[in-house]
Amino acid sequence: MKKTLFYGKISIQGRDVMKVRTRFAPSPTGFMHIGNLRTAIFEYLVAKKYNGDFLLRIEDTDQNRKVDGAIEFIYKTLELCGFQIDEGPFNEGDCGPYIQSERKDIYKKYALELVEKGEAYYCFCTESELEAMREHAAARKKPFLYDGRCSKLSKEKIAENLKNGVPYVIRQKMPKTGTTIVEDLIYGKIKIDNSILDDQILLKSDGFPTYNFANVVDDHLMGITHVIRGKEYLDQTAKYNLLYEAFGWEKPTYIHVAMVLGEDGNKLSKRNGDASFMDLYEEGYLPEAIVNYLVLLGWSPETNQEVYTMDELIKAFNENRISKSSSQYDVKKLKWFNAKYIKALDDEKYLEFIRPFLTHDVSDKSQEWADKLLLIYKDHLSYGKEIDEMVNIFFNDEINISAENKAFLESDANIPIVIDTYREELAKITDWTVENIAKVIDIVKEKTGVKGKILYMPMRIKISGVEHGPELPDEIYLIGKEKVIARLS
Ligand code: GLU
Repeated sequence: MKKTLFYGKISIQGRDVMKVRTRFAPSPTGFMHIGNLRTAIFEYLVAKKYNGDFLLRIEDTDQNRKVDGAIEFIYKTLELCGFQIDEGPFNEGDCGPYIQSERKDIYKKYALELVEKGEAYYCFCTESELEAMREHAAARKKPFLYDGRCSKLSKEKIAENLKNGVPYVIRQKMPKTGTTIVEDLIYGKIKIDNSILDDQILLKSDGFPTYNFANVVDDHLMGITHVIRGKEYLDQTAKYNLLYEAFGWEKPTYIHVAMVLGEDGNKLSKRNGDASFMDLYEEGYLPEAIVNYLVLLGWSPETNQEVYTMDELIKAFNENRISKSSSQYDVKKLKWFNAKYIKALDDEKYLEFIRPFLTHDVSDKSQEWADKLLLIYKDHLSYGKEIDEMVNIFFNDEINISAENKAFLESDANIPIVIDTYREELAKITDWTVENIAKVIDIVKEKTGVKGKILYMPMRIKISGVEHGPELPDEIYLIGKEKVIARLS
């Protein structure tokens, strides 16, 4: 189904604006898995593509899940990813507060408005009454639906209960027959039987709203034109539509997006040990690379361009091309993107990025030596933390040569000659530079008449213990004259 985005006049707090507005609405759990972030990217791109606003709203009505510092953490994440937040808790616009726990009075007012309209009602049922209803439903193998008994209470009874301070919740009065249609940009029209809809709780006994209520009230009051969220909310959306209708509010355009599954095909979760954005960032994945990788999980551009700047993404993004089916996280592909982004950094930016990942002690080395070391790996890294292991050969005082490599060193009569020639020629160098070292390799080649594997491999093994490494002149340079000569002797 193709649908052009609504791009019309909306009223925010009585003020008319002509704008697309989307929001990212995370719970402040201190953990952002990449599926959440991918949703945020889609929300951001839809807003920015239409020159609209991107809002941040903190959904902390489940106070048990709240973590200190989580809001700062969310800001930091979005900032690192290059998002500009137009309105949010730290930069309020006209629709504040942007933290749900600070909006309790607003939800109460709107819940009472629905009670007034006969679209919602007070429910005084106790936990044990509800438990009995649940057991009754379970015995009949039916899903539990509240039986609506409190919707039949007399006005007097309600007034008396309220006066006596009997705890209550407010429930939405659902139609018992007919169907409700949900229209989604990606999934099309979905018909939900009203008979399966529970008279859901809107306001809990502690005065906090449920997510199901708060998201509708907030999306309306914040002028959200496009609700982009995980597909797990799609079935619930019938209830939200009934709320919009009960209030007489215009519904937003819904864009539900399929899940990102973990590498094992399961739902992503912290418990499964799946990497969050911050985990990846701390491992040395560049935020730009993560964003680029994630946007292509579940969205296919019109061309086969794979690497995008944020500006290019904003131009190219097309919400109609979001996939209906779930996608799978693939760390190999992420590494591929990250390597590309690392390679593209200019040397100064690269050094700034990579230095913190080097844990080897370089205090006795020159800055030039350390930078050179890091720079030769620029084109070979797929993430920052990899550097430490890659450079091990430059920090070992002792080298270990495997039996296999020892056998290799004895496999050709030319090898000892090559090694001796290297030693003699390198010893002659007065100005220890990569250039002069490269010249020595040419001299050795000429003098001994060997080339290819025999010219390089024995040398690498003798000076580092292993057959792999960066370009040989770089490797020789970094190990240093003294150590190289000693290891060749
Ligand atoms: N707080 C919800 C979540 O983190 C938001 C869902 C929505 O975008 O409406 O899943």
